[in-house]
Amino acid sequence: MSQTIADGFDCSTCKEHHPELPMSMAFASPDFISKMLPWDQESRCKSSEDWYIVDDSMFYIRGCLEIPVVGGGQPFVLGIWSTLNENDFDTTMELWTDPSRINEPPYLGMLSNDIPTYTNTRLLQTKVQTRQSGERPLIFVPDKHPLGRDQRDGITREKVIEFAQLVLHGRSDNPYGYLCEK
Ligand SMILES: [Zn+2]
Repeated sequence: MSQTIADGFDCSTCKEHHPELPMSMAFASPDFISKMLPWDQESRCKSSEDWYIVDDSMFYIRGCLEIPVVGGGQPFVLGIWSTLNENDFDTTMELWTDPSRINEPPYLGMLSNDIPTYTNTRLLQTKVQTRQSGERPLIFVPDKHPLGRDQRDGITREKVIEFAQLVLHGRSDNPYGYLCEK
């Protein structure tokens, strides 16, 4: 049987064989919120799995940044957060279950997570493209940044393995862990 992208791999972190290669890495919240003290989070934030409002004045949406994998049919998906302005956030909420939302133009925002293996991804400009109801928006970043270049050109299976080892084992300077889900 030929190898497919999500086949298992020998892990250089734990030296074991993992039977499956995770094809996503997600952040539970914007970094700014993950680093808040729990009681601040409680008093300052309203949230769902898909959005955050902080101090009634900062608005965040969760989306998918898809990176093609060279030689693979399936993209690697980063579950990340972007800011939205109040107007676009309100529209997003109003159209949450409305089929016409696929006609929305892309919204502009700023990436709200520092993605490991890249430098300075937080505050990168984003385009947030609404998809059909039930699907998180697609997020795009400029291709003058290495993350944007990877989004345009794709990454190798070796790079996916690098992400996978972080998903499966975390890293010492990451206090909240990464989730593996889209
Ligand atoms: Zn391992």
